[in-house]
Amino acid sequence: MRIFEPHAHMYARTTQDYEALAKSGVEVLVEPAFWLGETRKYAGSFFDYFDHLINYEHSRAARYGIKQYVTLAMNPKESNNYELAQEVLEELPRYLERPTVVAVGEVGFDAINATEEEFFVKQAELARQFKLPILIHSPHLGKFEGIKRLIEVLQGMNFDMDQVLMDHNVEDTTPMSLKAGCWAGHTVYPISKLSPERMANILEDNGYDRMMINSAADWGPSDPLMVTHTLAELRSRGASEKNLEKLVWDNPWAFFSKSGRLK
Ligand SMILES: [Zn+2]
Repeated sequence: MRIFEPHAHMYARTTQDYEALAKSGVEVLVEPAFWLGETRKYAGSFFDYFDHLINYEHSRAARYGIKQYVTLAMNPKESNNYELAQEVLEELPRYLERPTVVAVGEVGFDAINATEEEFFVKQAELARQFKLPILIHSPHLGKFEGIKRLIEVLQGMNFDMDQVLMDHNVEDTTPMSLKAGCWAGHTVYPISKLSPERMANILEDNGYDRMMINSAADWGPSDPLMVTHTLAELRSRGASEKNLEKLVWDNPWAFFSKSGRLK
């Protein structure tokens, strides 16, 4: 089955991972901009990172036949350095014009505070201005309250919720994200957070409309093949191929095509 991986930080992975993804059926992937572990001290470090994702990572993926797109933003964690975040935001518009940028993200909450909210609002406005959807990182701690607040903020802005991918949902937040009219993303990890079994339960409870799964493929204990492992779990429970295709292809395609930039 062809797979559209909607959230993978391939910057943190090896070429063997690209090879494994290609063999597993991944034809398209979206790499969101995020923090890199070590907190950055200079705005220039962000711009080099954005260029790296747009240029180098794009051609690295292409070598394995994978079409790579990106989402760019000032991430919530580092936006707590106010001056630095402001400097990055001033340059962000010229990056959002690039043809492979399919959303503004990851934006959202890390510690859930007023500064993070201010940069979330500013970037949601930028997304509206550039007619791009947004990819939201929901916080690890206080996830339910964080998502609830992000939805309230967007509703207060009259933001079109069909343009929102609320990511890293778990059992108690998926219904809230869907009810608000967002698309609901889920990160499946090998040892912590959502397992393929838990993810399959969430799909049995909530259906497949507006639902997406991803591997994150980041710096921590993660596995870029978690989408494939989740498909195997769902098949073992008798899920229909039509629903599986919706989950790993039709839904991410429908969401990111709102950018007008998918080819
Ligand atoms: Zn991420």
